[in-house]
Amino acid sequence: MKELEKTYSVCPICFQEGKIQKIDASIIEDDEKVWITKVCQKHGSFKEIYFSDVNLYKRWMKFKVTGKPVSYVKTSLFNDPELYTEHTSQTVLTNLVVTNRCNLKHNQDFLNANTTGYVYEPSLDQLRDLMQQTRSEKPLGSKSIQITGGEPTLREDLFEIVRIAKKIGFSYVQIYTNGLKLAESIDYCQRLKDEKVDTIYMSFDGVTETTNPLIAQHKKALENLRKVNLNVVLVPVLIGNKNVHESGKIVRFALNNIDVIRGIHFQPICFCGKNTKVKDDLRESQRVDYVQMIDAIEKEFLGMISRDDFYPVSFIFPISRLIEAFTKDPQIEFTAHPGCGGSTFIFIENGKPLPITRFYDVEAYMTFLNEQTKKKGPLRKLRIASAFIKNINNFVDVEQAPQGFNLKQILKEAAIGGSQYALRKFHHQCIFIGSMWYQDAWNLNIDRLQRCVIHCATFEGIVPFCSYTGLGYGKRIQEKYSIPVEEWEKKTGRRLEDDLRILAK
Ligand SMILES: [Zn+2]
Repeated sequence: MKELEKTYSVCPICFQEGKIQKIDASIIEDDEKVWITKVCQKHGSFKEIYFSDVNLYKRWMKFKVTGKPVSYVKTSLFNDPELYTEHTSQTVLTNLVVTNRCNLKHNQDFLNANTTGYVYEPSLDQLRDLMQQTRSEKPLGSKSIQITGGEPTLREDLFEIVRIAKKIGFSYVQIYTNGLKLAESIDYCQRLKDEKVDTIYMSFDGVTETTNPLIAQHKKALENLRKVNLNVVLVPVLIGNKNVHESGKIVRFALNNIDVIRGIHFQPICFCGKNTKVKDDLRESQRVDYVQMIDAIEKEFLGMISRDDFYPVSFIFPISRLIEAFTKDPQIEFTAHPGCGGSTFIFIENGKPLPITRFYDVEAYMTFLNEQTKKKGPLRKLRIASAFIKNINNFVDVEQAPQGFNLKQILKEAAIGGSQYALRKFHHQCIFIGSMWYQDAWNLNIDRLQRCVIHCATFEGIVPFCSYTGLGYGKRIQEKYSIPVEEWEKKTGRRLEDDLRILAK
């Protein structure tokens, strides 16, 4: 047993009792795995799995970075300032909850109006103010927003919400939906496309009916989105004893639908809400760590995709520094903690999956970028540019690369449009496999929380996503700014259950 890092966490039992108790914690190496351990004076010691491949963890931790200081209009941990005092990452993705209503009868989500008994649904003016919070960050406002719920398509003014987001400067708008509405109506998909929604985030827990009871609807939604040419990212929520074994099959499904699916964004089950109270053995069987997902992908692709193809989000940090050196404009910095998850790009070449890392020495390239952007003195820009042109071809194995892969062109586009546009030209030749490993009271690492880049815009200020769901701040905020279901029904003349479409399985 060896300690790798010292950090802070909270006591999960104090949390069950309704109290957020900050305690010392250690990230340790034991039995070739990484664990988080901690002791509460009142409730004793805890040990939870953190990352089940210590070598991969160590490789990723090399890419831990800290960005420029950020100034927020209002950051909030909802009256718990002692949790930590300074948040160190800017908002890469703004998360905006527009309703807590949902149309799935079997949805047991703890924030869902059907279970909570209240409706949280800010008005358009309120939503505009909420969005403005992350747009007003300094030195750079958030440019990407995810409109989410509940089920956001239940709001009849969703198109108006999208228009407001675009108008106040979000260049990238995504909608996180269960896909039911999209399966029902191609006209609705067309409207989303017409309103310039960039991407649909669609929940997608598996490729079989057992793991994904909505598979038929999801296939229909994909068919409709394909017809209107609107991109989709699949969002599987992985549960240890339920669907993690299908991770590889989900990747294969995405590769088979590469014309409409742009990527997959894996998420783990998070023990919050009603799950806070599950027994230890059930939690242990459902808990899924990052490596189990990669194991399943490796098993499906037999060496064609492996764990070495994945890098943490912060890996691409030097690109933003490079673009900044050229444009002088501040760039979005991906400073999420490496433990938050990794990603890769998979191309299809001659009918087979080909990870970007197999023909492009990304690690050497990032090291090179890092060195270049450290250059100081006169003619800095010119010296960086010339080093670039001289070295650029050293990083790509042209023989192995997909046809037409031109790194110079990609970087030129990145410099003009920002890194998120860099691979746009290749969109229909590659998919993005990403993940965001959300935390809860058991595995919470406050160092990670402090670096979170996904921020919920709330009436109490900006709340990091893992505090919003994993630590229950979202529930408290939604409760405070909501109305009872009866009042909502009276006000709207509708009944909550009229929206419910699918019966529990
Ligand atoms: Zn405790």
